[in-house]
Amino acid sequence: MYIKPMTWDHNSEHKAYHFKTAFVGGAWANNVRMHVGADGLIAALSVDSAAEEGDVSFSGFAIPAMANAHSHAFQRAFAGLAERRQAGNADSFWSWRKEMYGFLANLTPEDVSAISAQLYVEMLKAGYTSVAEFHYLHNDKDGSAYADKTIMSKAIIDGAERAGIGLNLVPILYQRAGFSGGDLSDGQKRFYLSTQDYVDLHSSLNCEKSIGFHSLRAVSLSEVLAVSSAVSDVGVHVHIAEQQAEVDDCLKHTGARPIEYLYDNLPVNDRWCLVHATHVNEAEVAMVAKSKAVVALCPSTEANLGDGIFPIQSFLAAKGRFAIGSDRHVTINPMEELRQLEYVERLSTQKRIVLDSGANLWQGAVSGGAQVMGQANGLCVGAKADVLVLDERHPSMAGRSGDEVFDALVFTSHGNPIKHVLASGNWVIKYGQQKHQETILSNYNKTIISLMERR
Ligand SMILES: [Zn+2]
Repeated sequence: MYIKPMTWDHNSEHKAYHFKTAFVGGAWANNVRMHVGADGLIAALSVDSAAEEGDVSFSGFAIPAMANAHSHAFQRAFAGLAERRQAGNADSFWSWRKEMYGFLANLTPEDVSAISAQLYVEMLKAGYTSVAEFHYLHNDKDGSAYADKTIMSKAIIDGAERAGIGLNLVPILYQRAGFSGGDLSDGQKRFYLSTQDYVDLHSSLNCEKSIGFHSLRAVSLSEVLAVSSAVSDVGVHVHIAEQQAEVDDCLKHTGARPIEYLYDNLPVNDRWCLVHATHVNEAEVAMVAKSKAVVALCPSTEANLGDGIFPIQSFLAAKGRFAIGSDRHVTINPMEELRQLEYVERLSTQKRIVLDSGANLWQGAVSGGAQVMGQANGLCVGAKADVLVLDERHPSMAGRSGDEVFDALVFTSHGNPIKHVLASGNWVIKYGQQKHQETILSNYNKTIISLMERR
C-alpha cells in the first residue's frame, strides 16, 4: 500500500488523512479516516477504518484545534516592553496603554505584515488554527487616511496567508476618547474612521470578516446601531468592562454599567463576542449567559494588565459560553491560558479542580471559539478541518490515553507536544515546523530591530 509521503505541498483538491487515535464527535476513536473538501471543511469521517492508498497517516493523538478569539497582531512586537515601573509607582492599564500608543506610532504596513506573519506562525505551532483579529490600526502615522484605506487590513491578511492560519478579520470602529465624547488623543488618531468609511472598509475587504467596536467608551451607541444596521448577519466583537474605571465612567455618563447598557440597547445574541467582560455583577453574568454570547477571556493579558478576575465559576454554573484569546500576546499558548483560568480559581479558593478537567476546559474553549468563528464545533462533518496531532512520544503524553491526553496537554508545561497541525485541511505545521518560518522570522527580526531604532 502507498501511504503518501510527508511533503509540504499536500494541496490536492480532496485531501484524505488517517489518524491512529482521534477525538471525533466528542469521543475518542481509533483508526479514523477524514476527507477534506475543497472548501477546507470535513467532508467525511469514518472510524475503525484502515488507511487507504493516498492517505496521509498520523500516529499520536488527533484533537480539535483551538480558535484564538481575540488578537491585536501588532502588540506581539510590544510584548515584554512596558514591564518597568514608572515614576510614582502608579502603573496601571492606563499607563501601559500610553506606552503602547507610543510604540504603535511608528508602525508601517510593512511592519504590521512582518509582525503578523511571525505571530500567526507562532499561533499555529501553539495549536491555534484560526484567529479573530481585532484590528483598529487604520491610519497613517500622522492620523491621516492612507491613499489605500485597506492597506493595514491587507498587511494582516498577507501575514495570515503567509503563515497559513484561518483569519477572521474584525475591522474595528474607534471614534472618541471616552463616554463623555471628547477628541481622540494624538496616540489614538491612527484608529479613527468615520462610520461611512468603516462600512466602506468592511465591504471592500474580500475575506472572512466580522464587525467590531473597540468599546462602548470609544464608540457611541448611535454609531454602534448605525453600523449594526448597515452590516448584519455577521459576528460582532467588543471590548467590555475590562477595567473598573471604565465601569465607573459608564455609570457616571449613562446611569448603567457597560454590560447593562449594552443589553438595554442592543439585541445581543449568539453572534456576539464580549471581550474580557471582567467587571460583571451577578445579574450581568446571568444576562450574558442567557443571551448565548461568547465571553472571550484572555487570562494572560488580563493578568499582565492587572484587569481583574472574571467570575468564571458563576458564569459556567449559568451555562455561559467562553472562548480564549491571546490579546496582547505576552504568551501564545492556549494551554497556558486555560491553566491560568483554573489556577486563579484554585489560588483564590484554596481548592483543586475548581472549574473542570483539562479535557472539559479544552472542549469548552474549542466550542466557544468555533461559535465566535461561525463554524461547527469539533471534529465532525461540516466543521473546518482544523486538527492538532499530539506526539505520543512526548514525555507529557507517554502512557496517557483518553481524556488524560487533554489533561496532560492543559496541565503540564514541559515543551510543546503539538507535532502536526492541519488548518482548513492544509498541513501547515509538520514536525513542529512551518514551511516559511525561517524567512518569516528573519523578516520579523529585521523589523523589530528597525522599530527599536526608530523609537
Ligand atoms: Zn483587546
